[in-house]
Amino acid sequence: MEDELLLMLPGPVPLPERVRAVMARQAINHRGAEFGNAYADIVRVLKGLFGTKNNPLVISGSGTAGMEAAVANFGKGRKMAHLINGKFGERMYTIGQRYASEARPIESDWGTPLNLESLKSALEDGCEVVTMVHNETSAGILNPAGEVGKICRKYDALFIMDGVTSIGGDQVLADDWGVDVAVVGSQKCLAAPAGLAAVSVSDRAWDRAVKNPPYYLDLPAYKKNAAKDPMETPYTPAVPLFLALREACLIIEEEGVDKRIARHHRMAGAVRKAVHAWGIDMFPKTDSLHQYSNTVTAACIPAGSNDKDFRGVVKKLGIQIAGGQDHLKDKIFRIGHMGAVSAPELLATLAATEYAVRK
Ligand code: PLP
Repeated sequence: MEDELLLMLPGPVPLPERVRAVMARQAINHRGAEFGNAYADIVRVLKGLFGTKNNPLVISGSGTAGMEAAVANFGKGRKMAHLINGKFGERMYTIGQRYASEARPIESDWGTPLNLESLKSALEDGCEVVTMVHNETSAGILNPAGEVGKICRKYDALFIMDGVTSIGGDQVLADDWGVDVAVVGSQKCLAAPAGLAAVSVSDRAWDRAVKNPPYYLDLPAYKKNAAKDPMETPYTPAVPLFLALREACLIIEEEGVDKRIARHHRMAGAVRKAVHAWGIDMFPKTDSLHQYSNTVTAACIPAGSNDKDFRGVVKKLGIQIAGGQDHLKDKIFRIGHMGAVSAPELLATLAATEYAVRK
């Protein structure tokens, strides 16, 4: 059975028992105190993880719904610039093409540093909204959000940051970095089930919200309903997922945010050391601004092997790691080390992967 595999993917990640258990409960009213309290708990914890004073809004939909909500509410009809060095940067651009008056891609090869000089030219050219993926999951690279935030402020542009696989696993300081809109997905570093996205919005961005947002992803409507007591969402939310996310947030609070981030850094360091010891190349090309991801490690498939055989060996040992996406299929493998991963789980993953490397 698939659910007997240890999922060491960059999401979805294994769910703590407490998180699974609350999803089996009887239905509750989504316009009542219990739901409102759960939403309030989620917001309290997420604020700390986003590094913001603003209350994140929770949408029933996966991370991509959060990305689309950000672009549709703040970029529709405007000139947008999209920083790209992997699959999810490309996805932001694809969404921008549906909504922006002009969507400008600023492309680097996957896993290589972003081109910040081209970003400045795009802003000088009148781009008003910028998108960037903080932790580019497809390539295992951590992009410089603080640096991009500074550039956006200088040109008075709005900065939308996809924090889908950084928020909850790595340090994010949305307010200090000048991030106007940040997005997270439930099934990644938060260790909750898939199906929810949360979006935080700065005052500056609210002042510039477009007048004609889409109906289901109308963020001002989410804000209005979240301000009610008890807290609500505009339409019927995925209640069991909210309850599960609340439980996941309480677990995060019990662990402590700083400790959680330190654990992710420790695990990422251990995986990198192992990759080095195996004599395999890391995939991303870092520089002084771009670092290796602390939530997912991307490394090259050993010479003479292929994706199917290599990951097949690991899977036979009970562990599922990820392959490369799109043109990186058969070129790289990715180990997710995000969420509630324990040291024994990480050690088992490294042992199984080493076995596949040496086979
Ligand atoms: N952004 C990043 C960085 C991701 O890693 C992912 C999913 O892997 C997404 C966005 C899309 O999220 P979802 O698959 O939940 O829609």
